[in-house]
Amino acid sequence: MLTTTLLTLTITLTLLSLTSPSQSTTDVCIIGSGIAGSSVAHFLRQYSSAVNQIRIFERHPVVGGRMATVTIAGETFEAGASILHPKNYHALNFTNMLGLKVKGPSASDSSMSLGIWDGEKFLFKTIDSDSKNQVTVDNFLRYYESKESRPVFSNVEDMLKWADLYNLTTRTLEEELVGLNFSPLLIQELITVITRINYGQSVHISGLAGAVSLAGSGGSLWSVEGGNWQMASGLIKRSDVTLHLQEEISSITNVGDFYELNSTNGNSYTCQITVIATPLDELAIQFTPEIYIPERKLQHTYTTFVRGVLNPAYFGLNSVSDIPELVGTIESPDLPFTCISVLKEHSANDFTYKLFSRQSLTDALLDQIFSIRNETLRINWGAYPHYHAPEEFAPFILDDLHLYYVNAFENAASTMETSAVSAENMARLILSRLAGQQPVGAHGLKSSTSDSNLQHPEL
Ligand SMILES: Cc1cc2nc3c(=O)[nH]c(=O)nc-3n(C[C@H](O)[C@H](O)[C@H](O)COP(=O)(O)OP(=O)(O)OC[C@H]3O[C@@H](n4cnc5c(N)ncnc54)[C@H](O)[C@@H]3O)c2cc1C
Repeated sequence: MLTTTLLTLTITLTLLSLTSPSQSTTDVCIIGSGIAGSSVAHFLRQYSSAVNQIRIFERHPVVGGRMATVTIAGETFEAGASILHPKNYHALNFTNMLGLKVKGPSASDSSMSLGIWDGEKFLFKTIDSDSKNQVTVDNFLRYYESKESRPVFSNVEDMLKWADLYNLTTRTLEEELVGLNFSPLLIQELITVITRINYGQSVHISGLAGAVSLAGSGGSLWSVEGGNWQMASGLIKRSDVTLHLQEEISSITNVGDFYELNSTNGNSYTCQITVIATPLDELAIQFTPEIYIPERKLQHTYTTFVRGVLNPAYFGLNSVSDIPELVGTIESPDLPFTCISVLKEHSANDFTYKLFSRQSLTDALLDQIFSIRNETLRINWGAYPHYHAPEEFAPFILDDLHLYYVNAFENAASTMETSAVSAENMARLILSRLAGQQPVGAHGLKSSTSDSNLQHPEL
């Protein structure tokens, strides 16, 4: 009898110890498989051998998040994040490291002629904003400095102040430009058009989001051939991640030294570190204890793809060839779309277009804008934060413990590269806090990296 009881007790204890959370103290759970989540996994693996299992949860059946493609009549086009700046060094390094191909700008893209539509007539401009933005781009490059000279940041404000970028988030782009003696006409007719194209918003966005938006309108922009989402996919594959596709996390509970995550599939996971790599603004994740972040609205961008031909009469023109390749618009309540661009000219009477708008475009309206419409595809993106100034930032560390939020940085600017920059800092923050606030270099941190090309050679 005693033997049976002891045996039962031993088996119970063995089972308990197998499932005890203390067994997996360095397990990391990441919610979101976009560039932020995949980059956190990548940098954790690159900087440390102390992390055990990394799980990534993705509610959708594919990875990449806002990096996604659509296929129209057999051709693939970027549906969300489409362009990268030549100095987006993390993205460049990911692309090279993963053996992906850079798709460079075509000759016409690099000196793009833009038609600005005010609802009645076109004004024609050429975009050239590189020089004015050089200082901001140069400041941003500080985030690629070596780890030895670059602190680990525990909040967004300090991260921005260190690179001299914080002040740009305290004033609107319009205030910055007026301060730089830009004429009201230039602001209204060109800069507004660009911020509307890139962030769906006016020049009332913060100066920093504005500067990033202007940087995204210069020459030499690039993308990953076949789709930018392949960066996330490649990083996940390379980082020994347990990927849970179609698994939406619905609750995160702090239970002492670890977190319990529950998914809508009815599964439960425990991990010592939990990283939120998605905007929390439109999510219904239940946190226990509750967390508090500043209220933030997402700007919705309705993306409509049309295979067909624009109607020149809608623009008061005679021929479709008179319509510019990129039609931008000024701020006016009467204008139903933000921009229209030609993605591909298949033949003189067959194009693929992409339209951005703040509201969904009805069939009736599309039938006015297009004379031929063979195929239409619509996506409603919770695209990026609705920016304002002064910006308020959510914390990187949501609960003073090990619950982290990469997308707090999106209030500075929302791009693939800024997500990767925030993720790199996040990996270092996690590792240094795991090491009991020790400087980076302790706690199993690798002193040299296997892919040291992650520092750009210039830097
Ligand atoms: C139309 C559009 C155009 C853009 N253009 C550009 C551009 O040209 N260049 C550029 O650099 N950037 C651009 N951006 C911005 C860029 O897409 C984002 O800044 C970047 O991709 C954000 O990546 P992320 O990983 O932080 O978030 P996301 O890509 O949004 O990834 C978050 C992931 O988390 C998943 N998720 C959310 N909740 C849960 C949950 N509870 N459980 C499990 N999974 C969950 C989501 O499904 C998603 O896959 C654009 C965005 C849009 C929408």
